[in-house]
Amino acid sequence: MTATPDYQVIRNGRLLDPERRAVEVADLLIAGDSIIETGPPGLDAPDDAGVIDATERLLMPGLVNAHTHGHGSLGKGTGDKWSLELLLNASPWVSGGVTQEDRYLAARLNAAEMVLKGCTAAYDMFFEFPAPSLEGISAVARAYAEVGVRAVVAPMMADTSLYQAIPGLLESLPEPHRSHAEKLRAAPWEEHIAGCRALMQAWPVDRERVRPALGPTIPLHCTDDFIRACRDLAKEYDVGIQMHLAESKVQAVAGLKRYGKTLAAHLDDLGLLGANFTGAHCIWLDDDDLKCLRDRGASVAHNPGSNLRLGSGIAPARRMLDLGVTLGVGSDGSASADHQNMFEAMRMAAFVSRIVDPDPDTWLGTWEVLQAATLGGASVLGLGGLIGRLAPGYKADIVFLDLTNVSFVPLNDIPNQIVNCADSSAVDSVMIGGRMVLEGRRFISIDFDRLRDDVQVTVERLREKNAPAYERMEAMAAFVSSHCVGLAGEGYHVHRRLDAGSGAQ
Ligand SMILES: [Zn+2]
Repeated sequence: MTATPDYQVIRNGRLLDPERRAVEVADLLIAGDSIIETGPPGLDAPDDAGVIDATERLLMPGLVNAHTHGHGSLGKGTGDKWSLELLLNASPWVSGGVTQEDRYLAARLNAAEMVLKGCTAAYDMFFEFPAPSLEGISAVARAYAEVGVRAVVAPMMADTSLYQAIPGLLESLPEPHRSHAEKLRAAPWEEHIAGCRALMQAWPVDRERVRPALGPTIPLHCTDDFIRACRDLAKEYDVGIQMHLAESKVQAVAGLKRYGKTLAAHLDDLGLLGANFTGAHCIWLDDDDLKCLRDRGASVAHNPGSNLRLGSGIAPARRMLDLGVTLGVGSDGSASADHQNMFEAMRMAAFVSRIVDPDPDTWLGTWEVLQAATLGGASVLGLGGLIGRLAPGYKADIVFLDLTNVSFVPLNDIPNQIVNCADSSAVDSVMIGGRMVLEGRRFISIDFDRLRDDVQVTVERLREKNAPAYERMEAMAAFVSSHCVGLAGEGYHVHRRLDAGSGAQ
């Protein structure tokens, strides 16, 4: 690989600026990993600057995936009519039995898919069972660094299993399923915290590119002591916290039953909500919850594709924006959303807003979702002011979109066509931190053909190894589903404020 020149100038492209809602022909000067100047064609550049011709290219800030799960990449396309709870029930089959090498592979695949689909940064809640280890999560961090994608990696953690978390679920299971579910115990929270502390102290890669965070997965799956310990550890090491929040109606109803208050109010009472907190999904929240998130400076990762795929509901994104809640867009993991396509995530964000209210004034427009998927995501990752725009002082994280791609023929309106027409086939090249990671749709940073072969061999091995887990998952699914459907249905009548509020939109 040739060394990155100190200076690079990109000429003849069109530059998309979500902040100013503008597209204009402009040159762009890069020094090292950052943009130092933009201006009209003919921009002055040092004589020794490398020149990149961007004729017929749109220069778009790299999309930021505000919520994904790298471990899910190997489970792409495994499920169909799964609710969130059925997905969690399937987890030992979809994500079980993996080695550290498999985790490294899964994270590289996730990162590579994001690059191919125009995404340059992501917040990854990565699952390691029974608890995160220095070795396991370090492999994930190294994978992102190797592919070249900027990332925040939060070990996804729980000290309570699905079967303990949902009131009455364990008791509802007949034998032998109940005994089996009782054995599926998560590690005690002290073990999770110890693993995370080790990671904070010996993070294996440059934090400028890949940084650690904490991912207590779901309020009901984490004891109060565990949540408090995450709060304190995050403060001690100044890192972010991401958590699935009110993703399914089952969770919202179970939260009211268990805590006597909403999930957001519960987390707020524990002191978890702050500027370093991101709630993923945030579907079943009421207005007080949203105002609380706003007042605490917390952000939301909106995952409309996953929310539809799992039948979770539609998050009140318009209300969040109106209240001033920071909003990012995410794909979610490929085991629940089947891909890492931020173009589709943006399109879904725009479109689902249109079925909740007939008034077009309330719909999310293309600039709004472009802002959420760039500037909003940057804030979610704690990288506001550094990524999400192509302007002086920002990192050179640039997606070169091919304007001769059929999605842009004829060229009518670029922002509308990015959100409403484009798919990832228009992604020609991707630069991250001033370095080309993908050029002419060929990877520079990794051997993608080799990765693909390794993934296929690995998945075939895991499928064989996890065959007993598949049998159990299938046998338990009907019991889990009927209990959860009953619980959500009960909530529908009993807890009207959730249905009358934003979540039912
Ligand atoms: Zn998720």
